[in-house]
Amino acid sequence: MSQVNCPDCSKSVSLPDNTEVGDVLVCDSCEVELEVTNLEPTQVDHLLAQK
Ligand SMILES: [Zn+2]
Repeated sequence: MSQVNCPDCSKSVSLPDNTEVGDVLVCDSCEVELEVTNLEPTQVDHLLAQK
């Protein structure tokens, strides 16, 4: 299992083993929705980010 830091609260968020680009995660700490934008290295961005 890999982890990534939440862009909002900087806490670590765990990614399931089968995570793929485009999957949506929810931060345990601040409950923000994050979309996986890249793997190796893992990167996430705000799901609702527009523009
Ligand atoms: Zn967070």
